[in-house]
Amino acid sequence: MRKLTEQQINDAVRLLKMPADSKLLTHLNACVHCGLCAESCMYYRTMGEDKFIPARKVELVASLYRRYCTLTGKAVPFLVNARELDEKMAEEMIDMLFGACTLCGRCVKHCSIGVDIAYVVHVGRRMLAAANLVPSSLQTSVDTALLTGNNMGIPSEDFVDTIQWLEEELTDEYGQEACIPLNRTGSKILYTLNPREAKFFPLSISAMAKIFFAAKESWTLSTNMYDVTNYGLFSGNNNQAKQIAKRLHDEVLNMQSQTLVLGECGHGSRANRWEAPNYLQQSYEFNVITTVELINEYIRSGRIKVDKSLNQALATIHDPCNLVRNGGLLSEIRFTVTNTVSDFVEMNPHGMDSFCCGGGGGQLAMSEYNDRRLNTGFLKAEQIRATGAKVVITPCHNCVDQLSQLNHLYKLGIKIKTLAEITADALVL
Ligand code: SF4
Ligand code: SF4
Repeated sequence: MRKLTEQQINDAVRLLKMPADSKLLTHLNACVHCGLCAESCMYYRTMGEDKFIPARKVELVASLYRRYCTLTGKAVPFLVNARELDEKMAEEMIDMLFGACTLCGRCVKHCSIGVDIAYVVHVGRRMLAAANLVPSSLQTSVDTALLTGNNMGIPSEDFVDTIQWLEEELTDEYGQEACIPLNRTGSKILYTLNPREAKFFPLSISAMAKIFFAAKESWTLSTNMYDVTNYGLFSGNNNQAKQIAKRLHDEVLNMQSQTLVLGECGHGSRANRWEAPNYLQQSYEFNVITTVELINEYIRSGRIKVDKSLNQALATIHDPCNLVRNGGLLSEIRFTVTNTVSDFVEMNPHGMDSFCCGGGGGQLAMSEYNDRRLNTGFLKAEQIRATGAKVVITPCHNCVDQLSQLNHLYKLGIKIKTLAEITADALVL
């Protein structure tokens, strides 16, 4: 790594000096070193080295706080383990805070005194972002989204081609009324999706289109802005996260829609549903809900009819961290699954205590950590195998991608479906 400039160090450390962040101060100073968080983290459990213990990740940021923000740390740093932000420290932070944490939050639930470890790790990422030290692989996803409107840089004409092909298939199956509307101003719902769907999993777009068709919904996609993801949440650059969130916000107003529906993407839902009002410093002027909640509501209200006997294979749920532990949608997912499959088994543990699949926190974008990501996924693979399930349902395309790789690597022999896909399979028209 190149020698850090004074400017980089000052920009990073400034975040620790912000007096408004009383939460950070509390959580930086609270750890009692009990070690209870160690076993909660899949990185420590699968690789066994002490450096992967969640408290060690907090300590990296805390040692900088002591060095730059406390009198003792400034005067006698060696007495209080106060560290300088130099190249060695920066490399360690990048490796541990970007490359060995998915911000899944499981350790937070296991901490004996409630230290918000994921929050402190995110502050560490923000410090690295301020010093221009975000891994270039992750930064590319953010830059591509800012430049092209979607994080995969899919040209608009390719997206339109994919949608038109899907629409032809759909009308062959259901007749002319079934369509995938593009740029239809005034539609009640503006629907968004993860660009991975257009590129690798187009059938999940038609699954959602079938559900909208069955519900007789007024909806549209916008070719201008359909990407639900926001990798600014993971890179730690809040300004760029804000720009991406604002683009989607403005598109809802531009399309004159009443409701923004966030496609099946855990971090995209978190970024747009719960974080964006903070980025934008305003409440939304329209409704924002996740696909999980929308499908749940369609079934609950009888607006769509489903028959669980149409999905007979034993199924289980993988809970995306950002929708369940960090978003609270545990029962909504289960309501839909138990109404659309006839044979269901829970993983152990699941729900609020579920293990991350290993693909969160931007890990799928950072190919330099691929081996580590697939190693940590071993825990999830063994959990799935233990259920005996043939189908794993998860409402997040990042998780779908990671689970597909785990399926291949650990020879699980499963099918992976989104909530829309399993619901579409059970639709009665
Ligand atoms: S947030 Fe998740 S990945 Fe990060 S340290 Fe905690 S348990 Fe480990
Ligand atoms: S469980 Fe909490 S208090 Fe204990 S070592 Fe981990 S972060 Fe510190």
